[in-house]
Parts: sequence; C-alpha cells; structure tokens
Amino acid sequence: MDIAIIGAGASGMMAAIAAARRGANVMLFEKQARAGKKLLATGNGRCNLTNLNMSPRCYHGSGYSHVKSALEAFGVEDTLSFFQSMGLLTISEENGRVYPASDRANSVLDVLRLELDRLGIAVIADHAVEKARFKKGKFLLDVRNEDNVTVVKADKLIVCCGGSAAPKLGGTTDGYAILESFGHAKTKIYPSLVRLTTDPEYPRAMKGIRLDAEISIMAGNKVLAASAGEIQFTENGVSGPAAFEVSRAASTMKNADSVQLDLLRSVEDSVLLGVLHERRKNMLNLTLGDVFTGIFHSRVGKMLVRYAGLSNEDPCSTLNDSKIKKLISCAHAFILPLRGTASLTEAQVTAGGIDCALFDETMQSMLCPGLYAAGEVLDVDGDCGGYNLQWAWSSGYIAGTSAAQEG
Ligand SMILES: Cc1cc2nc3c(=O)[nH]c(=O)nc-3n(C[C@H](O)[C@H](O)[C@H](O)COP(=O)(O)OP(=O)(O)OC[C@H]3O[C@@H](n4cnc5c(N)ncnc54)[C@H](O)[C@@H]3O)c2cc1C
Repeated sequence: MDIAIIGAGASGMMAAIAAARRGANVMLFEKQARAGKKLLATGNGRCNLTNLNMSPRCYHGSGYSHVKSALEAFGVEDTLSFFQSMGLLTISEENGRVYPASDRANSVLDVLRLELDRLGIAVIADHAVEKARFKKGKFLLDVRNEDNVTVVKADKLIVCCGGSAAPKLGGTTDGYAILESFGHAKTKIYPSLVRLTTDPEYPRAMKGIRLDAEISIMAGNKVLAASAGEIQFTENGVSGPAAFEVSRAASTMKNADSVQLDLLRSVEDSVLLGVLHERRKNMLNLTLGDVFTGIFHSRVGKMLVRYAGLSNEDPCSTLNDSKIKKLISCAHAFILPLRGTASLTEAQVTAGGIDCALFDETMQSMLCPGLYAAGEVLDVDGDCGGYNLQWAWSSGYIAGTSAAQEG
C-alpha cells in the first residue's frame, strides 16, 4: 500500500508514523525546507502539545462529531503514551497545559523525526504538491521541486496541509484547493487566537503594558465571550493570552462591537474606595494624574482619569463622591470600540476550513474513497491551550491508521 501524505506538520507526521507502523509505504511531501517548522514556534517555542482538561466543547466548526470520536479513539492519554514511548518526557501546568519537560519545542519535533527515521520514512522536503486527482484506481500527484514537476502515484492520499494562518510558518490555502478539486466545500475562514484591534486612542497611550484583567467581547450589553488573565495593550488594541482566548468571537461574530475590560477584577471596591478617600483627604497637593499611584501603572492610571472625563491636572481635592464612583466604575468597565482582529498572517489558527460533513469518522472522504484529511485544513479549531495540536495528533493518527488498512 503506497500512501502519499501532503504536509509534514503535526498531523502529517503523526499520520505518516501511524500508517507506517501498520506496514504502509509512506511518501511524506513537505513544501518547506524542513518538516515541522510551525511546531518549533508553538507555545512560544515551548510547544504546548496537549491539555489534560480535554473536551469536545473546546472545539469549534463543523467537525464536532469528528472531534468527539477522534478524542475517544486517540485522546490525551494515548497522545502522552505515544510521545512517552518515543522518549519524550512531559510536564503539565496547573491549567492542564502539557509541555515537553525540556521546555523546548525542539524535543517534540526531534522524537517525531527519530521515529520517522526508524520507520524508514523519508520526508520529501522542498517538494510542493500542486494538484491531485484520482484516475484508474490511483491518486496522481503533481509534485514541484524548483522548476521540475513530476507525477507521483499512490493508492491512498492524506491531505495534511494545515490552514492558512501564519504563512511565514507554512500557512497556505493549498490544502483547501486540493480538497475542493475533489468536490469538498470550504467554509468561510477567519483568524483565531490572535490580537484584537480596537479604536487606538486609549490603547496607544498604554502600549506595551501588561496587566491582569477580565476581558469580554460584547454585542451591546450582551457578553459573547469572556476570559480572564494577562492582557497586553498594543498600538491599536489588546493582545496577550486572555485576549487570544476571546478573539474567535471578535473575528467570527458579526454583531461583536466592543471589548470590555475589568481592570480591577481582583481588588475589592471597598479597599479601593478607602485608598481614594484617603488621597482626597490627606494628599491635597496631589493631582488626579497620581490618584491611582500604587494601584495601576502610571500610564494606565492617567488613561483611566481621562476615560472618566476628568483632567489629570486637577487637584485630588476636587474629587467628590460621584467622581470617585465614576473612576471605580470606569476601571471595572473600560470599554473600547472593537474593530476586529489582526489578520490570518498573525493568527495562530484558522477558524473555518474544509467542511467536515462529507468526511466519515475515520477522516475518509465520502466523495472519493481512499482520500483522507486531518488537522487544521478541516473546519475544526480549538481553544488556546494545546487543543489545536491535540486535534492534529488525534485526526492525523486516525487518518494514518485508517488509510493503512486494505480496502
Ligand atoms: C505561533 C504559533 C503558535 C502556536 N502554538 C500552539 C500551541 O502551543 N499549542 C497548540 O495546540 N497549537 C498551537 N498552534 C496551532 C498549531 O500549531 C496548529 O493548529 C497545528 O500545527 C496544525 O497542524 P497541521 O498538521 O494541520 O498543520 P501545520 O502544522 O501547519 O502543517 C502543515 C504542513 O503542510 C505543508 N504544506 C502545505 N501545503 C503543502 C503542499 N502543497 N505541498 C507540500 N507541503 C505542504 C506546510 O508547509 C506545513 O509544514 C500555534 C500556531 C502558531 C502559528
């Protein structure tokens, strides 16, 4: 059985190993110079390879039943045993995120490469598959290396080209085009796990500052998505892990119109009220520009005073009870008009992709038997925290195992 796999990313390497372990002869094509370039950049170079708090509810798109069955067939425990059996030691953090114990994404790629070598699978790098078709019982692939295009034959084909996020790391639309040429439909695609863009007036003044906040994507007064943790102000919006977690809603939901930040989620109002009353009473020479000293970064404090419609030059003695109340409520509900998100170029993941409806639970196409797909090329995207790689491992494993079976 000759199996051609397009794309030596997370799902493609997994599919190759799973198929070769079942005796298939695997050809693994990669258009970049090396396998797993994106993998090296994951988790800020640490590779958050899965999450112990796993559930199909952490995924979005048309593939809910595929995710559910994939996690049942090859879930977190299987993934950890798979990597452990190849010598990868892992650690998990409080939030369930799993990383290599070396803290280096390289270790994950290295054990995959060793296993590919052990199984005799050569990664055919610098070879881009431009087209694929099915003729007389075989898949025919047009494979380009520099100026040469050769036609390669295979009994089965697994498309693992990934999505179009992060083009510098291999993101491409190739996989969509190949699967569309077999009659599969593509849903609309959006950036996900990406920074939010807002009206720049207030964020610009606080560029680079990180703080702990609760962050919500709003449609009027309705909360569409919420998270809490570290955020970072940018030139024109908000970034950081908590912002990434709500970015899917900002990008995909048309009615999303603002970002609301609670900058005081871990401070009791009564404590803050006490501090502000004290300042008004005892620090008569102080201006409002310093009223939040010791509570917020000075630029955040000044921005909040401005946002509340007050002047940073006014003396603290001008603070009456209603102004104090206003300052506190602005810190709890600092609202920025939402413009959207940064583009797919900066995104970690593509929301949307090839519609899963016409793939069965073994990841095989219902339109063309022998054709399989796995990973981000499909309309499945996960939350932040190791879920996207878990989908790549699970779907890649199932596609590789199923494709290697005769018939
Ligand atoms: C900066 C960054 C950080 C991330 N961090 C995490 C994280 O910590 N945890 C997590 O779970 N997820 C993370 N993700 C998301 C995760 O990396 C992806 O969801 C996952 O890699 C998808 O796997 P894949 O195999 O489907 O696609 P990819 O890993 O993108 O692999 C696809 C491969 O196919 C190749 N290819 C494409 N077209 C062709 C063609 N025509 N011919 C030959 N080869 C082709 C590409 O060059 C690429 O190597 C991160 C993403 C980014 C960008």
